[in-house]
Amino acid sequence: ENSATDSKNLKVKLVLLGDSGVGKSCIVLRFVRGRFDPTSKVTIGASFLSQTLALEDSTTVKFEIWDTAGQERYAALAPLYYRGAGAAIVVYDITSAESFNKAQYWVKELQRHGSQDMIMALVGNKADLHEKRTVSSQEAQEHADMNNMFLVETSAKTADNIKQLFEEIAKRLPRPTP
Ligand code: GDP
Ligand code: MG
Repeated sequence: ENSATDSKNLKVKLVLLGDSGVGKSCIVLRFVRGRFDPTSKVTIGASFLSQTLALEDSTTVKFEIWDTAGQERYAALAPLYYRGAGAAIVVYDITSAESFNKAQYWVKELQRHGSQDMIMALVGNKADLHEKRTVSSQEAQEHADMNNMFLVETSAKTADNIKQLFEEIAKRLPRPTP
């Protein structure tokens, strides 16, 4: 469900899903503020942050980013969270097989509750901790392919692939017909 102000300026609601501690809030903070803060407990709260990205074709995409305020620890997120989302980022930590299993659960949730044409990214975060990797890129790629998602491995710490992640989502968004 993308609402466009006009054909050159798109707007999309984007939701983040994934186990607690995988780095969802750090990814948002890196993208929106260009910072990584390893100490502070990032609290974004119930509402959203927004960030506009300019693409090479002079289109702009305004992301309205919904981060959970820790509700992912409990049961299913409220349908309000998914409603109207045109894009979703499902995050796991490449050093945690458990978080990868949880990501597969969230993908199913999205398929059940999200809109049909939602753009979905599977994101393996903490790629800087490669010596501790337990989830292989190949295994993650296979899961992405099976579920019509694209895979990106990121590091909110080093900023690796963070901008590329949002650019890739922006490029895949359906363009309104003029
Ligand atoms: P959330 O619960 O999914 O929102 O996770 P947070 O964004 O709060 O991050 C959880 C912890 O992981 C924090 O201690 C972060 O400093 C750490 N973290 C987040 N992203 C990265 C990353 O890319 N690399 C490393 N090494 N640590 C990260
Ligand atoms: Mg968080």
